[in-house]
Amino acid sequence: DKGLEKTKANFFDKLSKAVAGKSTVDAAVLDNLEEVLVASDVGVKTTLKIIKRIEERVAKDKYLGTDELNALLKEEISGLLSETNLENETEFTIPANKKPYVVMVVGVNGVGKTTTIGKLASQFKKQGLKVVLGAADTFRAAAIDQLQIWADRTDVPIVRQEMGSDPASVAFDTLTSAVKQDADVVIIDTAGRLHNKVNLMNELTKIKRVMQKVVVDAPHEVLLVLDGSTGQNAFEQAKHFTLATEVTSLAVTKLDGTAKGGVVIGISDQFKIPVKYIGVGEGIDDLQVFNKDEFVASFFR
Ligand code: GDP
Repeated sequence: DKGLEKTKANFFDKLSKAVAGKSTVDAAVLDNLEEVLVASDVGVKTTLKIIKRIEERVAKDKYLGTDELNALLKEEISGLLSETNLENETEFTIPANKKPYVVMVVGVNGVGKTTTIGKLASQFKKQGLKVVLGAADTFRAAAIDQLQIWADRTDVPIVRQEMGSDPASVAFDTLTSAVKQDADVVIIDTAGRLHNKVNLMNELTKIKRVMQKVVVDAPHEVLLVLDGSTGQNAFEQAKHFTLATEVTSLAVTKLDGTAKGGVVIGISDQFKIPVKYIGVGEGIDDLQVFNKDEFVASFFR
């Protein structure tokens, strides 16, 4: 799994250092382990949860060796991810009974939102599904242009209006057009301004309400895109967006460029939202369906 090489090497190296020269897991090893987890962006809360569970095991088993620590840690991380994530997903799928299946994509600028939408459009199109994109991030002209580039690249229709127009109106037009074309999937881009919570909430609520005039149960998915290399910022953004709207899935991008994939573990644990996709590069095929087992394996050797 080429995309996650950095995460893998770095976490394992740090972990090895944490237990170097020790034969049993003692307080010092646990302290080091805590540091390694926090440094890998797992987040303090989730780290403490993991450390506590390992401490309990150490107390119970008395002579837990450092060799066993690896296995135990893997088990704990896997267990945490299982609480919110599906196991062994590998295919890009949408539910068969929703047509069109409407995905509203949220996230701040620069995290890889447009790229993720383009990659998704490409994957769905490859499966023979009819995709329509909606450029409802009308705040920046560049956002509309960027989405247009991906629409051209993937040869997928896009519905757009001029910059500054009402995002809800664009979303309405997109769904109307999608229904008329008998499309399978609609992906709506929304503005990523970090404006205050109330404004964000109002904007997203309005987009949803207007979409529901066309497709009663839209959106079927609210996908929050987070940049996996930004650590604490990604946690803050998850908090911001989950307070403003009901986020149902996550895409964590740029995991190829970071040695700190731990953000995936902490965020899915703390927000109880499944990680559905991971971005592992800038190319059109560099999006993977999040696979829990593969991810855990990439953390350990
Ligand atoms: P947006 O402002 O959130 O829509 O962000 P963009 O989609 O324009 O992406 C911002 C930058 O991040 C671009 O240079 C993308 O090529 C890059 N990018 C997006 N996803 C990934 C990823 O998974 N890995 C890497 N290395 N770069 C990515």
